[in-house]
Amino acid sequence: PLFNGYRGRFAPSPTGPLHAGSLVAALGSWLDARKNQGKWLLRIEDVDAPRCVFGADDEIKRQLLACGLYWDEEPTWQSSHLERYQTALERLNDLHLIYACTCSRQMIANVLRTPKARDVTTPRNQDVIYPGTCRPRGEKVHRPMSDALSNAAWRLALPQDLLIEFEDVALGNQAQCLSSEVGDFVLRRRDGLFTYQLAVVVDDAQQSISHVVRGHDLLSNTGRQIHLQNLLGFKTPQYLHLPLVLDANGEKLSKQTLATAIDTQDKKQVLTELRKAANHLTHFGLRNLPDQKDISIAEWLLAATRAWNRHGKLTSS
Ligand code: GLU
Ligand code: ZN
Repeated sequence: PLFNGYRGRFAPSPTGPLHAGSLVAALGSWLDARKNQGKWLLRIEDVDAPRCVFGADDEIKRQLLACGLYWDEEPTWQSSHLERYQTALERLNDLHLIYACTCSRQMIANVLRTPKARDVTTPRNQDVIYPGTCRPRGEKVHRPMSDALSNAAWRLALPQDLLIEFEDVALGNQAQCLSSEVGDFVLRRRDGLFTYQLAVVVDDAQQSISHVVRGHDLLSNTGRQIHLQNLLGFKTPQYLHLPLVLDANGEKLSKQTLATAIDTQDKKQVLTELRKAANHLTHFGLRNLPDQKDISIAEWLLAATRAWNRHGKLTSS
């Protein structure tokens, strides 16, 4: 039997069409699943509704199909899984692990501006570490959820000095001290939306995802996700973070740096896009791939699958 328990996924946020960076994540995760004779699922992460662009999900699907990156099983949309996320949140509440927070951004910024609080801001990313203003001081943080104001955010109370360690397939040992590097993070926002951290953990578990292959830009989220998996009794998948795609100026590709949609007009363009993506995956064996103009997309993908070596370490090639 082909199916061996490997279940991977590509989980784009429909905030726009696929660009060079997201194609690298799509191709890497697809190749890893195919190489391991596993399944590759498509999950549309539209939980942050205000950031979603109408029709982007269809466009992403169209682009993936044009690239020959076919998915197994029906695609799913996070917006139709809200009860799941609520159930997980209530489970954490029953475990006395979450608390309501009514701080505005401004209030948090003001607290952090006081000299005493300076050392809790993190220089490593732009996110500030929540100073714990609303965190109940007692041993237990439990408050019945219905008691909270309807416009409260729900935060996860982290134990002190919580170090999360994991082995990334490509990057090796990773460690993050959640309490000092991230702080009590939000699971449901004040506007009622569930956050990426909660939704991705619940869905990866619900879909029995065994392998997560995604962009390096998501590496700093993995510790939070592993902690949530531990609390909710979910298995931790294996993680492989792919190198970041930089533009010609050495900057991360994003909407801000105007990463444009990949061009899937015709087969020739698709091959060009796939080859560009492969250039970012040479560490994983994707070098010396067939470069004939008349090769079919399927043939090229087959050669890439053969060449794919997930244990390729990030040494210079
Ligand atoms: N939806 C996330 C993004 O597009 C990726 C989620 C993931 O792969 O864990 O950035
Ligand atoms: Zn607060």
